[in-house]
Amino acid sequence: MAGVTTTTPATQTDHVADLIARHFGVSAGQLQVGGVAISELVRQFGSPLYVYDLDVARRQYQLLRQTLPPRFDICFSVKANPNQALLRTFVGQGSGLEIASSGELHQALAAGCPAHKILFAGPGKTEQELELALAQQIGEIHVESRTEARRLARLAELKHTRARISLRVNPAAAVEGGGMRMGAKAVPFGIDEDQLDDLLDELLPIPALEIVGLHLFVGTQILDHEQLLKQYRAGLEIARHLQQRLGRPLQTIDLGGGLGVPYFAHETRLDLCQLQVGLRAWMEEIARGAEFSEVRFVLEPGRFLAAEMGLYVTQVTDVKTSRGKKFAIVDGGMHHHLAASGNLGQTIKRNYPVAVLNKLDCVTTETIDVVGPLCTPLDVLARGLELPPIEIGDWIGVFQSGAYGRSASPLGFLSRQAPVEVVVERGVARLSRKRGTDHDYLADQLLCD
Ligand SMILES: *Cc1c(COP(=O)(O)O)cnc(C)c1O
Repeated sequence: MAGVTTTTPATQTDHVADLIARHFGVSAGQLQVGGVAISELVRQFGSPLYVYDLDVARRQYQLLRQTLPPRFDICFSVKANPNQALLRTFVGQGSGLEIASSGELHQALAAGCPAHKILFAGPGKTEQELELALAQQIGEIHVESRTEARRLARLAELKHTRARISLRVNPAAAVEGGGMRMGAKAVPFGIDEDQLDDLLDELLPIPALEIVGLHLFVGTQILDHEQLLKQYRAGLEIARHLQQRLGRPLQTIDLGGGLGVPYFAHETRLDLCQLQVGLRAWMEEIARGAEFSEVRFVLEPGRFLAAEMGLYVTQVTDVKTSRGKKFAIVDGGMHHHLAASGNLGQTIKRNYPVAVLNKLDCVTTETIDVVGPLCTPLDVLARGLELPPIEIGDWIGVFQSGAYGRSASPLGFLSRQAPVEVVVERGVARLSRKRGTDHDYLADQLLCD
């Protein structure tokens, strides 16, 4: 595939340069997003902001589309980034949407996604959520437990309808690869493979449940194509067994999301060429038998499709030194971007790719901690980062921020304003989600006495 390399950048600065070369531009030392200068974005929309380049999102979608065999469908995972302009972009490219709440269902419908292309996963769906999903006749509801199957059967019977379901299964065997071990763990998601037969004994005779698919989800942020392929292949064994029990072919096998992007300098990009070659070979093997001749495969990536097109931008409000250590204090932080602060479940806190967006042509001379305005030591956007000399008013950008950014952050913490979301498309920037106000934190409170 032209333009896709898998070289590993040596340092954080190289990593940022690599991302800029792939997706952005630089003019007079300043970052350009889709041809629009950062200073222009901040002048128009203020700081802090998230900016999403929808053309990059479209390219990333097409890159994946071209990697996957024709028998694969893509459903973007809304929880990675529910921005309407982004959802509309993916839907416009032919993507379905994977949702995990009624709120996401409303967002998917508002984005114009055809109901039959919506998949509903996630543990603990409420009765109201299941009713809504049935009423909207979405593509599949992914059943995560025996209770959920029973609940859904009862609701479908009441409505004199059939629920199209897919069973989410946790494989019994662990798959090794890339230094990681996946599956065979205790998880609150899905049905353990060793409980599947017993569950099927109960579900198969229920006419209100139409079992159409198998859903497997075994990990996130996977950068090793071998590991992905191994897991996909292992999933087929479960599909084979499920088909035998059903006595008819499955319509869908959902292989989950989990395709990774490089956040850190030492990480190697997922090799799409090798993934493509592996998938082709696998499809040829499958085509030799009749077993899976009808099935559609589904991938539901969030991070891979959305991370690279997004950037979080903050402005330096203060620079200070404490006991020999230099701090740049910025007007945004972990309340807007929990993942970059290393507090979204990371075991090792590593810096996201961070740069001074108005000094991209300057050499790095200082070691700085970039911290947010919250009164907590957790509010750190970068630790011990090599940066050019920093001044009040500089723009600091966090790359790889289009997935699990704003929507995965504790926006209410310390009652600070939520960041705006700006989208750039074909060289034009527009406001996509307005900034929160101080009053938002009063508006929904019951002020008694
Ligand atoms: C979160 C999630 C995804 C997306 O995962 P990525 O690692 O972002 O690709 C897909 N499917 C389900 C069921 C999820 O919960």
